[in-house]
Amino acid sequence: MQTPVFLDHLPDFETVAGEKPEQYRLTRNKALLDLMLDCSTDWTPRQACPACGRDRLKSRNFSQTLLEFLRCTECNTIYAQRVPDQKVLDQLRLEIIEAQVGDDPGKDREFEFTSLMNWVSLTEARLQRRLDKVVDIRFASQAPRWPEATRRLSHGRSWDFLSLTPENTEFDELCARLAHLSPKAILMPAELDRVADPEALMRAIKQSVASGTVIFVASSCADGLEYEILGADSPSFIPLDRLTVFSINGFQALSARVGLSVLEVSTPGRLDAVILDRYFKGTENANIPFWSGFFQEADKNRLRDLQILLQRSLKSGILRFVLEA
Ligand SMILES: [Zn+2]
Repeated sequence: MQTPVFLDHLPDFETVAGEKPEQYRLTRNKALLDLMLDCSTDWTPRQACPACGRDRLKSRNFSQTLLEFLRCTECNTIYAQRVPDQKVLDQLRLEIIEAQVGDDPGKDREFEFTSLMNWVSLTEARLQRRLDKVVDIRFASQAPRWPEATRRLSHGRSWDFLSLTPENTEFDELCARLAHLSPKAILMPAELDRVADPEALMRAIKQSVASGTVIFVASSCADGLEYEILGADSPSFIPLDRLTVFSINGFQALSARVGLSVLEVSTPGRLDAVILDRYFKGTENANIPFWSGFFQEADKNRLRDLQILLQRSLKSGILRFVLEA
């Protein structure tokens, strides 16, 4: 494994919205509550940590709110104790995407696109391999402007999108399309923390691509300082979007089990310091040793320094892996 550090641009802290909009959080939590109240929902219990595979008896309670979540004592991954069918999850995502149609996709999106593109380009340079055929798994359906941005910014790469197909719970169609497209790179920036069975998705991808295909994965990260300090009170913890919050060790274990080599690990999250700063400055009686005082007195420079430290030490809330099939 190489390059544990990937320093991304830091945001202008005064212009960052920070947390997920409250309306989105409420909508997702209501959807989860409806699922739990609906007697016809099938739930699959998880008997082991979905990352490292250790028996769930090795896990401790993380949160009882809404859905029960556990934290693995072996690898630090946080996971829902039971999950609904993938088909149900996909249908709920399609509904929220449809509800958002017409909304401004958000100014920060452009940055997100550029950041992903930089990631692909830097990896190309490191591997000395041209990744000119990219397949983007299920992200485009959430980001209407992404196809246009890839045309403009991708420097002549071919860029295909595989979007959500809720009829297809076993990832069969995804496998068939991947085999047909035979990409050199796969980009999966927002899937693994919210699918019912991340290992099944990883295996499906591995089986459908040629040896040497490079896979870019991003997900939320349980080793992030936000989860360490605030636990289930983290503003980023929206249970339906975080059925598995991988730790670095946990995701490494999963990759090894599936037979994928890890080429690069990083945590290039940009917002941890801002989110924690808002929490401590806006919450009465937030009395956590060291950190309460740290943030009460924090200015912009201190937040920037902290964010850089978190990225360098793999303690930010977003993880990125580059894998090779
Ligand atoms: Zn584990």
